[in-house]
Amino acid sequence: MHGQSGVPLGRHSSSKPVQPQAAAPRVFADGLDKPVQYVRGVGPHRASLLAGLGIQTVYDLIHYYPFRHEFQDRPQPIDTLVLDAPATIIGVVQRVRFRPIRKRGLDSSVQADLMDATGRARIVWFNMAYLRDRLAPGQILRLHGKVGVDRDEAQLINPSIEWLDAEADPASWNTTRLLPVYRACEGLSSALIGRWVREALDEALSAIDEPLPAAILCDRAFPPRREAIACMHRPTDETQLAAARARLAYEELFLMQSAIALQRQWSDRHGRAPQLVTTPKIDERIRRRFPFALTEAQDRALAAIVADLNRDRPMARLLQGDVGSGKTVVALYAALVAVANRHQCAILAPTSVLAAQHFRNIEKYLAGSRVRRCLITGKTPRAQRTRCLTEAAAGRMDLVVGTQALLEENIRFASLGLVIVDEQHKFGVAQRAAMKGARVQGNGGGQRGGDSRAWLMPHYLVMTATPIPRTLSMTVFGDLDVSIIDKLPPGRQPIHTRLVGPSDEAEAWLDVRRRIAAGEQAYIVYPLVEESDSLDLKAATAELDRVRRDLLPGARVGLLHGRMKKNDKQKVMDDFAAHRLDALVATTVIEVGVDVPNATVMVVEHAERYGLSALHQLRGRVGRGCKPSVCLLMSDSGGSTARQRLEVLCATNDGFRIAEEDLRIRGPGELLGTRQHGYPELRVASLVDDVELLMQARDDAAALLAEDPRLNASAHAGLRAELRRRFRDKVAFIDVG
Ligand code: ADP
Ligand code: MG
Repeated sequence: MHGQSGVPLGRHSSSKPVQPQAAAPRVFADGLDKPVQYVRGVGPHRASLLAGLGIQTVYDLIHYYPFRHEFQDRPQPIDTLVLDAPATIIGVVQRVRFRPIRKRGLDSSVQADLMDATGRARIVWFNMAYLRDRLAPGQILRLHGKVGVDRDEAQLINPSIEWLDAEADPASWNTTRLLPVYRACEGLSSALIGRWVREALDEALSAIDEPLPAAILCDRAFPPRREAIACMHRPTDETQLAAARARLAYEELFLMQSAIALQRQWSDRHGRAPQLVTTPKIDERIRRRFPFALTEAQDRALAAIVADLNRDRPMARLLQGDVGSGKTVVALYAALVAVANRHQCAILAPTSVLAAQHFRNIEKYLAGSRVRRCLITGKTPRAQRTRCLTEAAAGRMDLVVGTQALLEENIRFASLGLVIVDEQHKFGVAQRAAMKGARVQGNGGGQRGGDSRAWLMPHYLVMTATPIPRTLSMTVFGDLDVSIIDKLPPGRQPIHTRLVGPSDEAEAWLDVRRRIAAGEQAYIVYPLVEESDSLDLKAATAELDRVRRDLLPGARVGLLHGRMKKNDKQKVMDDFAAHRLDALVATTVIEVGVDVPNATVMVVEHAERYGLSALHQLRGRVGRGCKPSVCLLMSDSGGSTARQRLEVLCATNDGFRIAEEDLRIRGPGELLGTRQHGYPELRVASLVDDVELLMQARDDAAALLAEDPRLNASAHAGLRAELRRRFRDKVAFIDVG
């Protein structure tokens, strides 16, 4: 599946002509369709709170899985409670008091006394004012929580609650429990949500269909879907729960992988791209442009790209490599292949600064060539911009470098053969925009080609400096082929990364002073909150003073921050590059385009506030010259997890390992810089812990579609229905059903 080209998911999401949006079929059986407001005990007010959690129908409700399960031991008599141990008790509510609180983070407390045959316990719930109306003397509760003490009596703070039925056989109370814990929100406790789920569950389950083919269920010994869902909400034991969870995680991944494969099938059938041929002569002429031989890693990536371009199916390839690994050169090679084949190429960057930097770079390599090229950013004068656009539309412009904002505009190309998008760290959003732009505006407005069902599309290359762990690129960008430049060009110096705590801070700054005295230069990066301009500036200026006065006295220190005017910024960077400054206090991640080989020191203040991948990129700013470089991660955070996390950076230079660690700690949204990657969030599966399930799901989806590409078999009807339901507006299923 990775050997073929395809196009990204989401490409057709807004594509009326490709995918006519029929009136949405009612997929739900009535029971599942029922608005959650009509579940007993919910009502309109709580329904609106539930809507905030994404729960609108009974279907949503029973698919709102607990995020963990709490093990509760058998209830014990109150007089046997042990301080600080978790405990379950059963007793009768004596009295209930409500008290508003005016304290930070607290608004109220509800207190109750609970009696059993052996004694009394005091119970307090903070910030759960709604309990006031739900608790009443005489109720029998089963509570679970950690035991504390208050005025010589046992106390439970914020225990979980189960209301017991006074009519029921008390023997049924006296068991261990696995209590589902739901993500709650203000006004909705886990316990309440759990009640409603159980209220709705039995009726709803009978309407739940099985999307997984029987063969897979059997092979993998998975429980049926109804059973698995029931077990998540009403687990009987850990073993069954684990099986249910695995099944639901697998299902999620399998559906996603099937959707990806279907999308790819679709684009393989219908997408057509111009065949861009690389002859030995073209290859030779392009290579002559570079003042160095390409590295093995670059050549490997290029071989894949050249092969893709040579096909009449649109390439969709992700080029990954650390900052400085030489991606731009590879991209330019591809661009020149397009131009040599008399097609146009667009190179798009996320910001004007980056676009301009690409353009400068490209100018360097193309000096004296006949390739017609231009730069269009937000800062390009109107007349010049109009001229560029006219030329591009007329086919008299070969290479347009610009910002991704261009995609939103009505830019036309006479024959766009290749789109290259440099995503840097942001990811996904521009990717979809790119496809929209390329399709709608490229190639004469996205007309159908000669083949009545074919679309003429440009080839498509995304560059990113964020190493995306395989599990993530497979799920989020599952239909992109991936090339990795895993080796830096020769001559790079290793960067020695060190963690600096409060006790060795003085020593570290001494080291910085020594290096500056020896004629080297330093970056000092200082994180600031983006939202508040004035505060930022104040903190930055204060930091500059501190560095000048206390830390690096006598050194020439400049300041670079995000709110500076472009010209001022440029001047500071020029001064640094020309060594008129010894050190640069930078409040934002240092602008790309700063490439100062003499800079050998990177100091990062409050390093714990950054993601690991961001830090990894940051340190790539040093180690570019012939002297050994250091990266000093300053952190006074005593927390051992923060330290452990940063240790990863000291231990490895492998961007992928670092990204995986980030993924583990911060989740995919953080790593991608966006949550809008077009897929519903995974509810059960974890991209870190379920790698094996993911691989199985991918292989199973591929095998199944190889056998039944259109899911016509009756054994696959359930799967087909579920795919339509989940991905209808995300993926073109034009061939399915
Ligand atoms: P990236 O876009 O991945 O950050 P660039 O393509 O900008 O990296 O390359 C970084 C630096 O390395 C540039 O100064 C470039 O000239 C240089 N470079 C790229 N490829 C090679 C190579 N094969 N040999 C030597 N230097 C190279
Ligand atoms: Mg680059």
